Amino acid sequence: MRPRIVCDLLPGTGTVPETGPGRTSIRMDDTFPKGFPDKQNYSEPCRDRQASDPQGTALKRALRAVIITRPWFRQLLGGTTISATVLTVDLEPDWGVRGTRAYREVTPRFLRFLEERGIRATFFVVSDLLEVSEDIVAGIAESHEVASHGKTHTSLTALDGAAMGRELRESRARLQEVAAPVIGFRSPFFARPSGLGRLLRRAGYLYDASLGSVYPGPQNGWLERSPCPGSEDGLLRIPTSAMWRGMFPLSLTWLRLLGLRSLGGLPNGAPVLYLHLHEFLPPETAGCLPWHLRPWLPRNCGEPAWDVFDRTLDALGGEFTTCRDMLELTQLEAEEV
Ligand SMILES: [Zn+2]
Repeated sequence: MRPRIVCDLLPGTGTVPETGPGRTSIRMDDTFPKGFPDKQNYSEPCRDRQASDPQGTALKRALRAVIITRPWFRQLLGGTTISATVLTVDLEPDWGVRGTRAYREVTPRFLRFLEERGIRATFFVVSDLLEVSEDIVAGIAESHEVASHGKTHTSLTALDGAAMGRELRESRARLQEVAAPVIGFRSPFFARPSGLGRLLRRAGYLYDASLGSVYPGPQNGWLERSPCPGSEDGLLRIPTSAMWRGMFPLSLTWLRLLGLRSLGGLPNGAPVLYLHLHEFLPPETAGCLPWHLRPWLPRNCGEPAWDVFDRTLDALGGEFTTCRDMLELTQLEAEEV
């Protein structure tokens, strides 16, 4: 049975923020870092940090990435041979609300899982998580790209310009202390207030991955038609993808909710997939969600989510890469022509 979809606009506004056709944004009442465990409660360092890449592998990796992402440039030229998937992970308070269990407990297993499959990903990290442990983000940065998902995971449409600028600048500066360079940003809840591009440029970002969708509907078709990578306001832009002919966001959330039959609707071409690490937590952790999301959003989370994710990667096949590698290689390809 198709899940009931609830679209929660910003309380009190009754309007869809300026985030593109049909884009919606949600705001949780509980703000981060409320409920954050005390630093002393965190006693388990990231034991699964992967071995550092020797300097010499950088060139090899770049060459490999050229081969992987060459099809992206073919797409820009109107071709259709696409094979690489950009895997993006939003690392934020549990269920986007509060708590750091996913950050502390899921990240090591997730990194091990990616290492076993030889996959690199872009992690959009809420920088306040560093106050719990810097080791975890440092460990991610050894093998993956770290980008910003804001400082507090507050919807940007709930902030004025000055506060928005602080979210962008301070999160980037904090993340760069352990994972430089940070060149990408994804807005919490995909909320894109007007002026975001200008503020991102000022804060030093090179690309914006905030074009995306949380809920299903025909508006997701717009994502499918957006060039990837594209550019806007002097920034490079990486939209997330859609599945089932543009009706559902290509996210682990909807792959979980729809079940394995959703694999039949995966997009052709080079998708940008997104997921959250709290989706691998047991369902009882979702009690922090607002009441209208609680009955359906945790479906197939926990252990079943690993299976869905594993099968999705198999179904997508081909290679997986990061936002940064995809952009660098698109640039390289452009210079070659
Ligand atoms: Zn988020």
